[in-house]
Amino acid sequence: MFVMFMAALWIVMFVAPVVLLVALLPAGRDCPRCGGETLAIRSALLRPVRRLLSQRWCTSCGWEGTTRNHLHPQPLPGLELVRAESDEADDDAVWRGEQRDNPLR
Ligand SMILES: [Zn+2]
Repeated sequence: MFVMFMAALWIVMFVAPVVLLVALLPAGRDCPRCGGETLAIRSALLRPVRRLLSQRWCTSCGWEGTTRNHLHPQPLPGLELVRAESDEADDDAVWRGEQRDNPLR
């Protein structure tokens, strides 16, 4: 019984700091320094835990660091089709004029 207790104590001693470090990392895709958008960087070191952690680089301020990924990512906003209000085509559209004046056609 004492051996089991010591084994559990050792496991907790090694696992607790790692869990605490991961919990203290910034979460999400926003830069923790400026709030700008960050891009994911492939890292061979984080490859085994890429679902949990990712290396990110801020496009605005140049911050680079490890962030915690959301385990349940929020869905992307869906596209919505909007009908044109009038059936008449806009003949004065710029792209129609360019197409008409195209010498290749
Ligand atoms: Zn930034």
